[in-house]
Amino acid sequence: MVNIVLFGPPGSGKGTIARKLWEKFGIKQVSTGDLLRREILEGTPLGKKVEPILASGKLVDNKIVARVLEKGIRGAKNGFVLDGFPRNGEQAGILEGILAKTGQKIDLVLELVVPDGKIIERLSSRRQCSKCGRVYGLHLPPKKEGVCDECGGKLFQRDDDKPYVIKKRLALYKEETLPLKTYFRKSTRVESIDGAPAIEEVFLAAEKKIASLGK
Ligand code: AMP
Repeated sequence: MVNIVLFGPPGSGKGTIARKLWEKFGIKQVSTGDLLRREILEGTPLGKKVEPILASGKLVDNKIVARVLEKGIRGAKNGFVLDGFPRNGEQAGILEGILAKTGQKIDLVLELVVPDGKIIERLSSRRQCSKCGRVYGLHLPPKKEGVCDECGGKLFQRDDDKPYVIKKRLALYKEETLPLKTYFRKSTRVESIDGAPAIEEVFLAAEKKIASLGK
């Protein structure tokens, strides 16, 4: 059982890597962004509240995200991969509190390093399935435009994947999230891999880092 925090800017491939880790090793993907988008798609009161915040690229209130996160972590019997949390100092503290309560710890913080230009290119071409959440893009175009290969669901472009919002999200990442690397280094193993190559190559590098944990 291994618990991982995937760390990296929006569009660095955290979601894709987390999903592959889940499919191959059963390590549960806990993506706060996906969990929030699920609430929006289902039209829950929480979803209605957070919808304009996600569309603007701003961060949702820490307490709301913490609630969503705790539910996700509790259901993880075979370890979890956090994708999109923590994003600021307060959230790092919240995570510590939840882990202390559940008796878990983070074994690895895995950073995906991708240059800004590549991120903007990736995010502007990203499309997601409204039914199963699968993500498509330049690296993985759907067989039929606008339709999910897996479940036939309709693909959509996230509101926050529009160019001016992407720039805002990148700036927010550098300002609030990136400094957490120093915080994590004090207590946790932090490893960085190049997130720019094709996804298979990045996944292989991620697997190697995870395999080296016991050594
Ligand atoms: P993501 O799918 O991780 O890019 O997240 C999409 C959006 O969901 C973000 O721009 C925020 O509005 C919201 N969100 C996701 N995770 C968090 C978080 N840890 N804290 C606050 N807002 C979040």
